[in-house]
Amino acid sequence: MVPRRQFDSLEVSLLLCPRCRVAQPVRKRLLLCLPEGDKYEYLCTQCGSTCGDKIEEPPRAAGSVLR
Ligand SMILES: [Zn+2]
Repeated sequence: MVPRRQFDSLEVSLLLCPRCRVAQPVRKRLLLCLPEGDKYEYLCTQCGSTCGDKIEEPPRAAGSVLR
C-alpha cells in the first residue's frame, strides 16, 4: 500500500535551478507589492539563484465591498 500524497494543495517547493541544473528545494521571498498582488521570487536553497517568480493575488478583505 502506497500512501497518497496530496500535491495539489501544496505550494511549489521544488523548482529547476538554472545553476544546479536539477530541481532544488526553494525558498519563497517577498519581492514587491504590486496593485495586482504580491510578487514573490523563489530562491534555490543550495546556491541562492533565482529559480522563478510568481505574483500572488492578495486575499480579499472581508467586509470591504467595492461598488
Ligand atoms: Zn541552485
